Amino acid sequence: MRIAIIGGGAAGMMAGIQAAEGGAAVTLFEGNEKLGKKVYITGKGRCNLTNAKTYDEFFKGLAHNGRFMYSAMHFFSNLRMMDLIEGLGVPLNVERGERVFPASNKASDVSRALEGRLRALGVEIRLNARVEAVKTAPNGFLVRASGREEPFSRVILCTGGLSYPATGSDGFGLALAQALGHEVTDLQPSLIPILTREDWPKALSGLSLKNVEFSARRGKKLLFKELGEMLFTHFGLSGPLVLSASAHLVGLPLDEILLLIDLKPGLSHEQLDARLLRELTAEPRKQMAGLMAALAPKSLGLALLELAGIPEGTVASQLTRSQRGDLAGILKALPLHAAGFRPIEEAIITRGGLNIKQIDPSTMQSKLLPGLYLAGEMLDVDGYTGGFNLQIAWSTGALAGHSAAAGA
Ligand SMILES: Cc1cc2nc3c(=O)[nH]c(=O)nc-3n(C[C@H](O)[C@H](O)[C@H](O)COP(=O)(O)OP(=O)(O)OC[C@H]3O[C@@H](n4cnc5c(N)ncnc54)[C@H](O)[C@@H]3O)c2cc1C
Repeated sequence: MRIAIIGGGAAGMMAGIQAAEGGAAVTLFEGNEKLGKKVYITGKGRCNLTNAKTYDEFFKGLAHNGRFMYSAMHFFSNLRMMDLIEGLGVPLNVERGERVFPASNKASDVSRALEGRLRALGVEIRLNARVEAVKTAPNGFLVRASGREEPFSRVILCTGGLSYPATGSDGFGLALAQALGHEVTDLQPSLIPILTREDWPKALSGLSLKNVEFSARRGKKLLFKELGEMLFTHFGLSGPLVLSASAHLVGLPLDEILLLIDLKPGLSHEQLDARLLRELTAEPRKQMAGLMAALAPKSLGLALLELAGIPEGTVASQLTRSQRGDLAGILKALPLHAAGFRPIEEAIITRGGLNIKQIDPSTMQSKLLPGLYLAGEMLDVDGYTGGFNLQIAWSTGALAGHSAAAGA
């Protein structure tokens, strides 16, 4: 049985390993000069390759169409991925939030280990081999790359989404699947920086805030609330908290969304008000601009005073009770409004993709075209940050490879 795998990213490498272990003759086509180009930049070069949460908890990390993943996760779970990588000589560490990284903190170790396993299994790896077309043929498929057409009995398509196209995932694979009859749902960025309606965050570009709580509400509904780190940028907001929040906002009417930053999550409103009162009383002649330095980075402190309508030259003793209340209010719930997202090319992942109704979740085989298997980010399934998106690719890739080799 000859299997062609199109796309040598996370899903394609795993599909190759499983298909070859299943006894198939595997050819892996990768458009780039190396395998796993995106894997190299994951987790800021450290590769948060999976999340070690228990099976049930793991599914809470899947943001969209998580139920499609039951069989794939059952077949190739997060724990199995960890065993595989450690078995290939790459020790792992589990960090905060059960995020799993190579102990070396080098994403390249993960990619190289998988490539080593592919080579050991005799998978034919074709680099700089961009597939231009896939056609059906009497006994399978014809795959055209570099102007040459070759027959294969089965094809696994795993060319990724639309984000970070410089890594090779430019959406062409989705067009290949469409040409074979598959539907693509609405494609949107997820895990993406947020543009703000307000201009003041842009003036603070580069300022990073640690240990703040970021939340997003739609009316009375709390959509997201987490403690962590965020960043002001020249367009609005970014950083881990903001990227995570974005996955809860994609597709919602943004004009109904209120974003709130709690700059003092360790204090209640009353405790913060009491602290302000203490500091104002201790230094009655000090200007508010100076007093704010104890509460927030300088540039943010000045912005907060302006938002609270307090002239920066106001001396502590002049601050009225109501102004103090306003200041405490802003420190506890600094309001912002989302105006949009950065373009999909800058997203960590793509929300949307191949319509999962047309794919059998127990094999990853196309329901439209037997012998065609689909896996990875090109599917309309995605997760939050924390290693979930790579695990989607590992699990669906593994199941596709196994099923294709087994003829399931
Ligand atoms: C900056 C960044 C950081 C990330 N960090 C993490 C993280 O730490 N943890 C996590 O879980 N997820 C992370 N992700 C998400 C994760 O990398 C992806 O979800 C995952 O790589 C998807 O795997 P894939 O195999 O489906 O697609 P990809 O990894 O994109 O691989 C697709 C491959 O197909 C190839 N290809 C495309 N078209 C063709 C063609 N026509 N012919 C031949 N080859 C083709 C591409 O060159 C590419 O190598 C991150 C993403 C980004 C952008």
